[in-house]
Amino acid sequence: MPAGGSVSNTVEITDDQEESMSNNGNGNHVKVLVLGAGPAGLSAALYAARAELAPVVLTGMQLGGQAALTHTIENYPGFPEGVGGAQLGELFQKQAENFGARIEYDLANEVDFSQRPYTVRTDAGEYKADAVIVTTGASPVHLNIPGETELTGRGVSYCATCDGWFFKDKKVVIVGGGDSAFEEALFITRYASSVTLIHRRDEFRAGAILQKRAKEHPKMNFILDTVVTEVIGTDKVEALRLRNVKTGEETIFETDGLFIFIGHTPNTQIFKGKLEMSSLGYIKVNEKMETSVPGVFAAGEVADPTFRQVVTSAGMGAAAAIQATRFLEAEEG
Ligand SMILES: Cc1cc2nc3c(=O)[nH]c(=O)nc-3n(C[C@H](O)[C@H](O)[C@H](O)COP(=O)(O)OP(=O)(O)OC[C@H]3O[C@@H](n4cnc5c(N)ncnc54)[C@H](O)[C@@H]3O)c2cc1C
Repeated sequence: MPAGGSVSNTVEITDDQEESMSNNGNGNHVKVLVLGAGPAGLSAALYAARAELAPVVLTGMQLGGQAALTHTIENYPGFPEGVGGAQLGELFQKQAENFGARIEYDLANEVDFSQRPYTVRTDAGEYKADAVIVTTGASPVHLNIPGETELTGRGVSYCATCDGWFFKDKKVVIVGGGDSAFEEALFITRYASSVTLIHRRDEFRAGAILQKRAKEHPKMNFILDTVVTEVIGTDKVEALRLRNVKTGEETIFETDGLFIFIGHTPNTQIFKGKLEMSSLGYIKVNEKMETSVPGVFAAGEVADPTFRQVVTSAGMGAAAAIQATRFLEAEEG
């Protein structure tokens, strides 16, 4: 994501696709239903399709998933020059479709895993499925301040591994006070000329070792008791409006980038009470991507608070589909 670059490659759902949402009818019975069309979902679809299970994939609102939100992905193997985020999503989709996966532009809003075949109710109808692979991903927690949405991809980012490189010799601000804010801040010091960590409290939650490393780093600066109240810039981030929470004093802080690390929310609302989850709301899976319900698998960021990358999510998706195939084969005897 170039600091001043334009990111307009989000895959929007078109009128034709909306039409297809209303055409999928009620009572579709499929062998494998994949919820989500990010790297995990589309990789699961590819593997299930190659196992001749004719999977159906529900895209939700973002075909390609979070990966489609970023300008360039440089750390997905096989693309030495990098690949556009949306383009990678389209390639994943095409490859899965080539082997017989069906993509439906539809959103799951209720699941019934109490009896088989499992039922998934969607905006457009209802599916029955012998096996379900949940890959609904996660969303970074936003500050919800003016300018944040408008400048996402134009200097505002939620992923240092992905976008840090674009801030070579630039000034960067990090918001957050936990381990991930410190880890990501230290990572960005490889590129940026200065990294300023802004935190709303007067002490950090991050571990002592991380704090020590950051405090000793010559590129790192800290502003405490302070919140960011506005991102300022026309087509790229130029400055931030800050407010000291103790004195109420407002200041303008010039920066090229703003990285926000105040947590991630897994998209697991509809699975509450249906699948076992961690205290942070991630779906619990074992090493075979099995959830607490036999025949329901989960993969990618919805079940992974740790790695959160395209390649790891795709790998989990493939594993879930392999295991779903074995599950259905065992059932058929
Ligand atoms: C700005 C940005 C840049 C990034 N850059 C990189 C990078 O350079 N390299 C890298 O490796 N990683 C990068 N990441 C992280 C990477 O995109 C994610 O780790 C990856 O996309 C996770 O894949 P996933 O399939 O698990 O979930 P997601 O990508 O989150 O996909 C979730 C899918 O589920 C769908 N969905 C959600 N709810 C429902 C529902 N109820 N019913 C049906 N479908 C639903 C969504 O529409 C979407 O299709 C970046 C992330 C962001 C936000």
